[in-house]
Amino acid sequence: MLVKIRKILNMNIWFASNNAQKKEELEAILKVSLKIPSDEGLIFNPEETGAAFCDNALIKARELQKLLGKNEPVIADDSGLCVDALNGRPGVLSARYGMENGIKLTAFQQNIKLLDELGDAQDRSARFVCTMAFLLNADRFILVQETIEGKIVKKNEMRGDGGFGYDPIFLLKDYGRTLAELSAEEKNMVSHRGKAGKQIALLIKTIQPQRQ
Ligand code: IMP
Repeated sequence: MLVKIRKILNMNIWFASNNAQKKEELEAILKVSLKIPSDEGLIFNPEETGAAFCDNALIKARELQKLLGKNEPVIADDSGLCVDALNGRPGVLSARYGMENGIKLTAFQQNIKLLDELGDAQDRSARFVCTMAFLLNADRFILVQETIEGKIVKKNEMRGDGGFGYDPIFLLKDYGRTLAELSAEEKNMVSHRGKAGKQIALLIKTIQPQRQ
């Protein structure tokens, strides 16, 4: 899908992330290889200070383009899990959920903590949200946001070995399976990131060359 776009742009396409699993997922969705900062030995630690997913996606994309020092196109995403009974938390703080004194919990520990916090709540509805940005330069970008609806499993019902993060506790609506029980291909078909990636790929094709 993006191969044509790479030809049009004739440039590297960067992904503003240090998460190799997310890079793999996105490469499969967009059907193109992406470069991440560590591929070039770059240290990339943007401060995700935004109040919303879209703010953080743009922060990451702009920071990486600044770090590169050239206008090579950058894709960035910001995503997280929003649980209704927790008033939308952990939301934009999903990656840092449970972090203390700068020490991050493992995904497994975060899942246990979230199930504890949710306790026996009847309302277990939740969604993953993904904002994806495609940045040409600081002032030209495409932004999309997609979701996938589901429910948080009951305590002790975490399951599945696939995916990453909160996948083992996220039960897909109408599937009876957690996201971690899907193959990578199945996850990409239905996930928030899969949907956002497909939208971005379609929109990139509509980009008009910049007039001087
Ligand atoms: P980001 O890298 O700042 O977008 O942080 C996203 C965080 O949200 C990840 O570290 C995960 O904890 C969680 N997350 C986002 N997308 C997914 C997913 O597809 N599965 C499981 N957890 C996810």
